Amino acid sequence: MSKLEIYQIAVLNDNYVYLAHDAETGATAVVDPAVGGPVLDALAAKSWKLTHILNTHHHADHTGANLDLKQQTDCIIVGPKADAERIPGIDVEVSDGDTYAVGNATAQVFDVPGHTRGHNAYWFADSDALFSGDTLFSMGCGRLFEGTAAQMVNSLAKFTALPDKTQVFCAHEYTQSNGRFALSVEPKNKALVDRMAEVDQLRKVGKPTVPSTIAIEKATNPFLRPSSAELQKMVGLVGADLVDVFAETRKLKDNF
Ligand code: ZN
Ligand code: FE
Repeated sequence: MSKLEIYQIAVLNDNYVYLAHDAETGATAVVDPAVGGPVLDALAAKSWKLTHILNTHHHADHTGANLDLKQQTDCIIVGPKADAERIPGIDVEVSDGDTYAVGNATAQVFDVPGHTRGHNAYWFADSDALFSGDTLFSMGCGRLFEGTAAQMVNSLAKFTALPDKTQVFCAHEYTQSNGRFALSVEPKNKALVDRMAEVDQLRKVGKPTVPSTIAIEKATNPFLRPSSAELQKMVGLVGADLVDVFAETRKLKDNF
């Protein structure tokens, strides 16, 4: 049982890459290394040695530096079993219900398909940290490229079952544009209005809005709120099946 130090690196247009360091053992994982240079710079600045890559899914903006970092550091690459053949250099395949240790810090693995066919999330309970990749964003969720609405609803339910204080380390800074859409479907949600004001302030000074928490997401994220009466009314599906409400909300967001 060990608490990770998490170091957030902003890369490309809007990606977040994370270093997760276990001080007890010196083990350090990088989550979804889109690019290698900024990761190596951050490792050098912290005097940390890379031991693991944790990939959530196969997209290039999450795996782009896998082979380069493996070659330079001899780290172990861990990724989704359901998509192993699309994860460059994968060494260890993990899936739902598995645990994986980075030093003395243990992650519980969730299979959360919907955005892609195979998509893992990594929950380090002792650190109150969830690495949600492109499944859950702040006030949003991933596009359904390779999965169905029902799959995504099921995936997101695994996250809402986690403790409220869980920090959500998602892979993109999409919060402000997600929030604009969220307000269009739940304009009277006070928690959402307040969060958006905070987000606007943070972005104005160039600060990250991530991590969020499960509590904040449950209160503000329309994709976790298909039972909201206001949302159901706004999408024209009062009393409908919650998967249908989710699917319609996702479709509206795709065209927003
Ligand atoms: Zn993606
Ligand atoms: Fe992405």
